[in-house]
Amino acid sequence: MLDVIKLLPDSVANQIAAGEVIQRPASAVKELMENALDAGATQIDLVVKDAGKTMIMVVDNGCGMSETDARLCFERHATSKISKAEDLFAIRTMGFRGEALASIAAVAQVELKTRRREDEVGVKVVNEGSIVKEQTLVPMQPGTTFTVKNLFFNVPARRNFLKSPQAEMRHIVEEFTRVTLMNPEIGFTLTSDGKEVYHLYPGNLKQRIVGLFGSAYDERLLHVHQEADRVSIDGYIVKAEYARKTRGEQYFFVNKRFIKHAYLHHAIENAYLEMIPKDSFPGYFLNIEVDPADIDINIHPTKTEVNFLDVKLVYAILHAAVRKAIGQHNLSPMIDFDESSELNNDFSAAMGITSPLAIPNIPLDPNFNPFSSKEKTPHESHWEGTYQPQRNAPSGDWRLLYGERTDQPAQSSETHEESKSNSRYLQVNQSYIVTTVKSGLLVVDQHLAHMRVLFEKYLKELENHSGLSQQELFPQALTLNANDASLLKEMMPELENLGFVLEQANPTTFMINGTPSDAAGCDAVALLEKILDNGKINRTDLQLDRKLSLAKTMAVQLSTKPLTKLDEMEMQNLVDQLFACNVAEVAPNGKKTYVIISVDELEGRF
Ligand code: ADP
Ligand code: MG
Repeated sequence: MLDVIKLLPDSVANQIAAGEVIQRPASAVKELMENALDAGATQIDLVVKDAGKTMIMVVDNGCGMSETDARLCFERHATSKISKAEDLFAIRTMGFRGEALASIAAVAQVELKTRRREDEVGVKVVNEGSIVKEQTLVPMQPGTTFTVKNLFFNVPARRNFLKSPQAEMRHIVEEFTRVTLMNPEIGFTLTSDGKEVYHLYPGNLKQRIVGLFGSAYDERLLHVHQEADRVSIDGYIVKAEYARKTRGEQYFFVNKRFIKHAYLHHAIENAYLEMIPKDSFPGYFLNIEVDPADIDINIHPTKTEVNFLDVKLVYAILHAAVRKAIGQHNLSPMIDFDESSELNNDFSAAMGITSPLAIPNIPLDPNFNPFSSKEKTPHESHWEGTYQPQRNAPSGDWRLLYGERTDQPAQSSETHEESKSNSRYLQVNQSYIVTTVKSGLLVVDQHLAHMRVLFEKYLKELENHSGLSQQELFPQALTLNANDASLLKEMMPELENLGFVLEQANPTTFMINGTPSDAAGCDAVALLEKILDNGKINRTDLQLDRKLSLAKTMAVQLSTKPLTKLDEMEMQNLVDQLFACNVAEVAPNGKKTYVIISVDELEGRF
């Protein structure tokens, strides 16, 4: 009998093991950058050629290595970061298996130059395919430079398996982003094929996000901070109005280590209170600090998973933290209502208009030409009828004339008084409310605004059990199939919090004895059927989800529809209520509730 079992040569074993750790250039980038961080560097420069295929170089100014260590670091399980198995659970540094360098050296040509501060000179070690080819002393600054050339030079199958340079570069940038985000106090650069792609200066997390994603982010971010007993959360989320169609900027770290966690991701999405459309994703950059004893990080270096001992607790804290940040971000202070100025009044008075002025919706239609004679829009004829040239309204800068009152046109005080009483808010097409704010024109979609107002109102009522109800004079019966009846029973406590008074007459029939006070005059049976329909779609154990879904259905059903005439008081109330909302800018269906047409924008139109 022949023996069939053979021991693999070391070099082959190393290559196989390397395959797990080093899958593509980006994996090497990650390992080298993390080592530089662990070495206490304050400046780390990454240089790549051909998306890392030809060369990856990481230069750091960290602690460096001794001559012996420079040789030893390429050995498998050579690590300065762990000595006992228990340390695995307390580990906070990035790498801890002493595997990365051994793996990289197994599949590439690696040159290491390193010098400790206390040494006069540095040492250079060249290792190709796990074989030390050269070791010499070299003059250099303290720190370490790893140069990885021709990755997978000895594993053609893997080299051929690499994606396009663009795709590999995306992976590299992604790793670079993850590492640099959580280390804002450290300077980084990334240079690709001789071009500097990033130059990140030491700073705080916000500055780092801006450095990575662009200066537009300066005003898009909301700070999130929450300290709890065993968990603390810190970072930034992107305001709802900047949610994107792609799952781009979602960065989640545990003890500064990048992870993916669908359940906790859900906590964040949920906290956005249905402010963003279903097909958009909120951006976030959040770090959760927990006692390492409370988590179980899958120690596979390429895995980005982590298990929490008490993930429900983390969910609740994370959700609350994000929600608080969103709640505190109230846009209304940014919209400076133009209380003092009577622009509207002056304008309409000067124009001799006393009925509500229809503001042309020019800004919404870039092709609209008010001087075109072909198409007559309703507002044009309105203007033709009321515009009175003899009123001495020249075509110059009307702000100069009326806004600053340097040259007030003659007008009767009566006209002025009259217009004052009804022209702060204008309704356009019985759908939009228009008023002036310091920065320009505020245009509110009445339907969507009311939806937002009601949505937050119902959420509050659901939390506080505070919905007012109104007794039905002639209680209606609601007859359901067995399934719907059981769902309705399930939802009964929540419906009661909103002001419904329901009584089960028999297993499938319910009497509607009372309805929420602002559902007056609406078809209670139809409303409950709608609630049940949506309840079925969104049936979930998560109480919060159920509340959100219920509040949304109610808000959608009971909000003022477009083409409803509102009087001045109603318009004012709605606008006031809208801007008292936690999140005024988006309706629960994800649409914008208002737009502001800035003075600049207006000026650009003339
Ligand atoms: P690990 O990081 O898990 O310890 P590595 O293979 O990544 O394993 O690195 C092996 C060892 O080499 C490290 O423990 C560290 O002592 C040393 N080392 C690696 N990179 C650097 C560096 N940039 N500066 C100083 N020492 C380093
Ligand atoms: Mg390492």
